Amino acid sequence: MSYGSFPPAPGGRRGGTLAVVLAALIPACFAGWLLWSSEGDGKGAGGSGPPTASSTSSPPPSSAAPTSGAPSSHAPSSAAPDALKGKVVVIDPGHNPNNRDHPAQIARRVDIGTNTKECDTTGTATNSGYAEASFTLDVARRARALLEAHGATVKFTQDGKTEFGPCVDERAEFGNKAHADAVVSVHADGAGPGERGFHIILPKGVHGGGADTSAITKPSRRLGERLLDSFTEETGSEPADYVGDGSGLNVRGDLGGLNLTTVPKVFIECGNMRDAKDAAHLTDAHWRERAARGIAQGITDFLHG
Ligand SMILES: [Zn+2]
Repeated sequence: MSYGSFPPAPGGRRGGTLAVVLAALIPACFAGWLLWSSEGDGKGAGGSGPPTASSTSSPPPSSAAPTSGAPSSHAPSSAAPDALKGKVVVIDPGHNPNNRDHPAQIARRVDIGTNTKECDTTGTATNSGYAEASFTLDVARRARALLEAHGATVKFTQDGKTEFGPCVDERAEFGNKAHADAVVSVHADGAGPGERGFHIILPKGVHGGGADTSAITKPSRRLGERLLDSFTEETGSEPADYVGDGSGLNVRGDLGGLNLTTVPKVFIECGNMRDAKDAAHLTDAHWRERAARGIAQGITDFLHG
């Protein structure tokens, strides 16, 4: 945390007093509660019905337009504005809000080296209908703003503007072709009610077909460990209690996005959308800002580790 730290987020654990936090949060939260968004449009996979107050959010930010309502949210750190200059970061917002309209296209099997897998999936949703694909884009955009403020070149695999996908093999290829210094695929999980917490998915050592992760498993683990620390610190969330033996780290060899990567890459499952307590966080714009900070800080720590 020594180099390129982001300013403390309201409610985060990095500095600040309770009084400051409350002063920042109370008006901001109230304003956020009043804002209705079409982002969680109630048609996510497994979701139905109109968005409720719990799925509202402030509009997704762009790098040029801070919108979270948190006063210091996107202010670049005056201490290290160029901390990430020259670094290429690829953020892969999981799924795509438009996937649900293209079931045949996303069901197409693609080669993941060791196997075949669906091109992509719709992702999960909260019980109130806030789609994972909306969550991943929102957090990714917030993280992009933070990273760019520190001089990083940030590229997205998709920004919600394409008809579907890209497919998982294309997502991996995107990071490879960008010669990314780090890639983070942002997701939220669809586990059972009562199962809580976040976890990082690390690439397994796989070798087969077009897959060979031997060169990137170690740096990817390092990236994952930095993310584990920073995400815990920024959000206060606990490592998942239903996977990875509570370590917050889970190694998998069945994901095309990891099998086919040739650059350091991990997935982060930010919480369980199907658990009411986790969903209360995931649907809260202020919590998502903290999640984005955790991701941006973890990437920063990895790149300077
Ligand atoms: Zn996902």
